[in-house]
Amino acid sequence: MDRSTDLYVDGKRHILVADDELINREILGNILGDEYNVLMAEDGEEAYELIRQNCNTLSLILLDLKMPRLTGMELLSRLKDEKDYKSIPVIVLTSDQASEVESLNKGAADFIPKPYPQPDVIRARISRSIELAEDRQIISATERDELTGLYTSDYFYRYGEQFDKFHPDSDMDALCLDINHFHVVNERFGMSKGDEILKRIAGCLEKAFHASDSVLCRKTADTFLVYCSHRDDYSGIADVIASSCDDMPTSVKLRVGVYSFCDKKLDIRARFDRAKIAADKIRNNYAVSVSFFDETLMENELFAEQLVDEFPKALAERQFKVFFQPKFDIRGDKPVLTSAEALVRWFHPTLGMISPARFIPLFEEDGLIAQLDEYIWRITAGHIADWKKRLGVSVPVSVNLSRAELYDPALVDTFERITSDAGITPRDIYLEITESAYVRDADQIVKRVTELRDHGFFIEMDDFGSGYSSLNMISELPIDALKLDMMFIRSAFDRINDTRMISIVIDIADYLKVPVIAEGVETEEQYLTLKKLGCAIIQGYYFSKPVPADEFEKMLQGADN
Ligand code: C2E
Ligand code: CA
Ligand code: CA
Repeated sequence: MDRSTDLYVDGKRHILVADDELINREILGNILGDEYNVLMAEDGEEAYELIRQNCNTLSLILLDLKMPRLTGMELLSRLKDEKDYKSIPVIVLTSDQASEVESLNKGAADFIPKPYPQPDVIRARISRSIELAEDRQIISATERDELTGLYTSDYFYRYGEQFDKFHPDSDMDALCLDINHFHVVNERFGMSKGDEILKRIAGCLEKAFHASDSVLCRKTADTFLVYCSHRDDYSGIADVIASSCDDMPTSVKLRVGVYSFCDKKLDIRARFDRAKIAADKIRNNYAVSVSFFDETLMENELFAEQLVDEFPKALAERQFKVFFQPKFDIRGDKPVLTSAEALVRWFHPTLGMISPARFIPLFEEDGLIAQLDEYIWRITAGHIADWKKRLGVSVPVSVNLSRAELYDPALVDTFERITSDAGITPRDIYLEITESAYVRDADQIVKRVTELRDHGFFIEMDDFGSGYSSLNMISELPIDALKLDMMFIRSAFDRINDTRMISIVIDIADYLKVPVIAEGVETEEQYLTLKKLGCAIIQGYYFSKPVPADEFEKMLQGADN
């Protein structure tokens, strides 16, 4: 709670005087009335009620220790136990020396003896207590996170460094704890549920790590940092936190990244960067909750950075090439080449060929993908036009779209421009949209996809079987083909040779009146089985790997006769 902004509501600070004797209230009222806005309570209960109502504006409480109903001492204990009230300074009014000490121990800021000293002394003590409390408030507002009471990151790093200074020989671990999909919790259940979860996590961390050998921090909304003496095992922590949130409307799953035995020559922030890299490695892995940093991760991270840095130059120098992987229609006696998928490759001057699996996710994260894809779509459209013109063959080629691109209101215009610039029609280029893109924010995606279809573009749902779309949902989706995810096919053939799931998907596709495309088909057995099951189109190493344009052109010429 930030009280500092509310303290001067009407030009004067507010003070509460709680004393059961009228005469005392009047004396204090007279002494303080010019400078402060003075509220009066006649007993402890009334005082408590006034504090409750005015806790955001009260600058100080003057508290008589002997009062009916609730004594001053009891009230003091109660106030110091409550988060919202404990920062309001309390000066006790007492004639009994033993109580002075007791009340100071209980958290009183100061005391004023009875009978009262000179008015100047009273005013000085009051203003000093207020000043001290306000200073402390300013410090703690930045030192501690308001919601959880853990350190904020600047202080956390500072105290971490201090810890190192005092314990130069301790082996230390840096931990980064992230909640999976926390934004969804806030969106679905509201901020207050989100806040409650964060507070519980902070509570669990405080229990699990002792102040004597650890420092805790809430870094951003749902990221916590822990700097602590080395432990071998952190697997219990995520579980403890998960079970502390058992009564929440959603399960809370944490990923814990650990950088063990920190290199203390490394800047303390860099140690936590490493913990974060470890945590991010298991971002989408629900089976694992703890991940340890190692050097290969660092290399990966540096490699990733290099790729992102070099992207603009690579694009300008045309280091990205489009490969084509043919798709065969297997419904007839002989497989017939009917289309292809355009797949990007990066020919790096020193690193050689880099697979899209390496850089596409990075570019998606960094927002570079749209530039790359538009480039790939253009090149692809150019090839389609060229083959049409020179070879007289019309082979539609599909291109891949990333999820973010579906939010671009200009997407349809972009494709119309690309096709018309190349001199081809929307029917010549197919669009592959991954199933997982449909799942989140389905309405928005469906709207855009419908728009694309209305303009004549043909949509293939990619990676089908890897996402989470329900039957219900698929039946309403605007799609022209279902492309089975490769892993789906792989597991059907590998493990138990159970192809029932594939049959079911083919039935769904039949119901939707769209063909099924199977990708990643590598063996004759897979091909023959898929054919028997009624799969329409096949793509995979069994027929061909993705090949450069000139090689694909040869296949086209071969297929033409
Ligand atoms: P995807 O769209 O699922 O593409 C299919 C991937 O499976 C391709 O990997 C392809 O080379 C590979 N593949 C095809 N047949 C077989 C097979 O029989 N066995 C095996 N093991 N693999 C096979 P690639 O080219 O590495 O692309 C990986 C992913 O990168 C693609 O997955 C796609 O999601 C993305 N991608 C590729 N090119 C582009 C692009 O131009 N734009 C965007 N946004 N994404 C792209
Ligand atoms: Ca694809
Ligand atoms: Ca795919």
